[in-house]
Amino acid sequence: RVKELGRNNYSIYSPLEKDSTYEQLIFENDLRKALERNEFTVYYQPKVNIQTGKISGIEALVRWIHPEKGIIPPGKFISIAEETGLIIQIGEFVLRTACRQVVEWQKNGMHPIIVSVNLSTKQFLQTNLVKMVEEILYETGLAPSQLELEITESMTVDFNQAITTLNHLKQLGIQISVDDFGTGYSSLNYLRMLPIDRLKIDRSFISDITTNAENAAIVSTILTMAYNLKLDVIAEGVEEENQVDFLQKINCDEVQGYYFGHPLPADELEQKFPEIYDKAKLWTKVID
Ligand code: C2E
Ligand code: MG
Ligand code: MG
Ligand code: MG
Repeated sequence: RVKELGRNNYSIYSPLEKDSTYEQLIFENDLRKALERNEFTVYYQPKVNIQTGKISGIEALVRWIHPEKGIIPPGKFISIAEETGLIIQIGEFVLRTACRQVVEWQKNGMHPIIVSVNLSTKQFLQTNLVKMVEEILYETGLAPSQLELEITESMTVDFNQAITTLNHLKQLGIQISVDDFGTGYSSLNYLRMLPIDRLKIDRSFISDITTNAENAAIVSTILTMAYNLKLDVIAEGVEEENQVDFLQKINCDEVQGYYFGHPLPADELEQKFPEIYDKAKLWTKVID
């Protein structure tokens, strides 16, 4: 499978290497062709409620399966896709694919879960964003309450625009989460006024939570604040059991990270979590 080819072969695509205009042009051209050739695919990573041990949702994460270079992660191409505007089509593809997939899983007996899809800044500023989302929900038949869009703090810089767009999205009945929370500069007062449902605490606070007292304090503080503002919280980047234990102790209910599962193609996710089709078990992942 192409999967194994990727590893170290895509350094040419590093967005940092912008010194070479030639490489940049090849990259853009490849990216454009990738859309025509359907080289993008969606991987899914489970979110787990560590109080109940059940999968509470999944995040859709785009991958570029390059015919020669193998799997190219979004970090290598999202920023160029933004610059070239290709992110609009890529983003729409990811949303449609993810909604379709969840509906298909449900037809096969999976209980309703929430699927999260990342929005890019450019998408967030598109005037037809709400219409696009509404159409995809209609077309795929996914219940709006089962869709969550992930935005970042930086997208709320134009506060009036953000609040208008978010209000329209909320009127569709979907959920909104703030990704990479804690790394941006959004004012807590503004945050309070935005119609959001969930904060995703950035991985950088979680990675050393068991050894870094300051980060542990920040995470506890975010949890308290979120509780008081009636927001849900999820911790990103949970890789180790002691992080799970720690988060459980401070009453962080939801986590996402390699400890419970890497992002996987839909069929591999089904294999790794076969209980998705056993209604009785409801995606239960065993936690001791
Ligand atoms: P994100 O939305 O914060 O997604 C989480 C990223 O962290 C994913 O990387 C995921 O694979 C990774 N991750 C999950 N658990 C762990 C863990 O335990 N440890 C570590 N070290 N990493 C973990 P990925 O898939 O490479 O995506 C990177 C970023 O690219 C995403 O960050 C998101 O900002 C962006 N992205 C991904 N898919 C899309 C998309 O469809 N549209 C847009 N606009 N952006 C996307
Ligand atoms: Mg995300
Ligand atoms: Mg994130
Ligand atoms: Mg992140």
